[in-house]
Amino acid sequence: MEADSTTYESNAKTEVSKPGLPFNTCPGNGQLYNDFINNDSDQRLEWKLVERLQAFGLLPKQFKCISNKPDCKVVCKTARVIDRVQWVCEGCGKRQPIRTGSFFFRLQCSILQALQIILAWCEDADLVVAAEHFGIKPRVATLIYDRLDELVVKEQNKRKLGGENSVVLAEMYPDCVNRLSPDTTDQPHAHRILMLADTNHIPTSYWLHVIKDDSKKISGDDSDNQVLKLEIEEVVRNVVTPNSLVVTGNNVPLIEGASSIQQLFQHCDVDMQHFLSTRIWRQAVSLCCASRSACSNTLAAAACGAAAQRYLTTALYRLRFNDGLYRRILELVAADYTDNSCDNDS
Ligand SMILES: [Zn+2]
Repeated sequence: MEADSTTYESNAKTEVSKPGLPFNTCPGNGQLYNDFINNDSDQRLEWKLVERLQAFGLLPKQFKCISNKPDCKVVCKTARVIDRVQWVCEGCGKRQPIRTGSFFFRLQCSILQALQIILAWCEDADLVVAAEHFGIKPRVATLIYDRLDELVVKEQNKRKLGGENSVVLAEMYPDCVNRLSPDTTDQPHAHRILMLADTNHIPTSYWLHVIKDDSKKISGDDSDNQVLKLEIEEVVRNVVTPNSLVVTGNNVPLIEGASSIQQLFQHCDVDMQHFLSTRIWRQAVSLCCASRSACSNTLAAAACGAAAQRYLTTALYRLRFNDGLYRRILELVAADYTDNSCDNDS
């Protein structure tokens, strides 16, 4: 544990505004986007894009003719279609969209627009603003955002905290901040969020779990506490590597196999105590605060909880990849959607 290296802010790159984009971009994300759309050749951009996306793995590099006759041979050709390129069989003449077997298949926008909306998602840009700016239907942009959320939640859920000789801290939001600054906002429901932090990781790795079936009445009722304890134990079992030391903060019930923060403090100096009780949570608390915008009067608490959870899980993934996120997301999209079954097969 090192008390001087806490949050992601220290390694975050400065975002810059780029002409032609309605949101700021991290330099790495912006550079990759430019590499896709830059065109100093005399070929059409759509043609260059297809080449680059094939090289990246976002479009299949080869395609098998559906007629599957002996003299079938499919090639890329320019065409009067939205993508300006399509697969054409020189044997039987059959044509197929260039997007077949990819993320872009049947999306009702151009490939360029899809790349722009994916960039917008990576920069956590407002969907409505981005959709309008790039001239894409909000419905289609929402579909892309949803697909990316889904991919990222799946990836983030594979993540484990802790390990040999690791300490994983547990604390409860908002209880841990209410003590310092009582909550005065008029929120329809305040979700409690279990925060886990891996102290061995720099920057700190977190896990944030919205407590299910939560209500504002946080009582000293024993049966409520028992339910909460079981839920916390289940999260810890799923998320924390078994050989780690789990340390519960002052606002988390002591769960099986865990130590309390007071026990840990006996071995720490004052600086380390301050770090472990306050500073280590700073980034997690700010995400929890931001997740409250997922709450609304029109949704039931459970639906809000699910929306808040999705926000938090994707936010943790965004933090992990920071400036490399656009590349990372496109790699995930390629791995999940691109049909490579015709490759290495001439
Ligand atoms: Zn054919």
